[in-house]
Amino acid sequence: MIVGVLALQGDFREHIAATNSCGHSAVEIRTAEDLEKIDALILPGGESTTIIQLSELFDLYAPIRTKIAKGLPVYGSCAGMILLADRIVDGKEGQKTFGGINMTVRRNAFGRQVDSFESDLKFNGHSLHAVFIRAPWVEEVGEGVQVLSEAAGHAVAVRQGNLLATSFHPELTSDMAVHEYFFEEICKGR
Ligand code: GLN
Repeated sequence: MIVGVLALQGDFREHIAATNSCGHSAVEIRTAEDLEKIDALILPGGESTTIIQLSELFDLYAPIRTKIAKGLPVYGSCAGMILLADRIVDGKEGQKTFGGINMTVRRNAFGRQVDSFESDLKFNGHSLHAVFIRAPWVEEVGEGVQVLSEAAGHAVAVRQGNLLATSFHPELTSDMAVHEYFFEEICKGR
């Protein structure tokens, strides 16, 4: 499978390494043309406001929305989760998202004092050590959204159809369970 990783800002290199280690071919996405040759897309962690602005500057905003609407499998971690949310709170004024998942995501939800932490949690029944860095959480899910992990009483991994989002960064650990879930359960058979 050819997996595109949006490579405008953030930890796209780690997602490329994770994807390749799962036996797929990762490619960097910087143009709308790049989007045409992929079977799936990953939106990395980083700074959601910067990534969305750069996507407009690189003429990728509308093409990515179109791909999402057409059913391209997309996985977003941390900032990537914010980018997949239909609604956000505590965003920058006027902050846009690509959207696609019927949820409200609170940006920087785990607070300023505890910007980063690690926690053991269950992801779809699998025990996982999760890394959170100025992470969002899911404030509210709408119809059609499946919660795959929770931490501190909030959803931190969700799926809606072909879209997967996590508050945490599996690309920064060696446990590939989330990437494998994306490739095996969402991308396969499409
Ligand atoms: N706080 C960042 C944002 O709002 C997300 C942090 C991350 O991706 N590690 O985009």
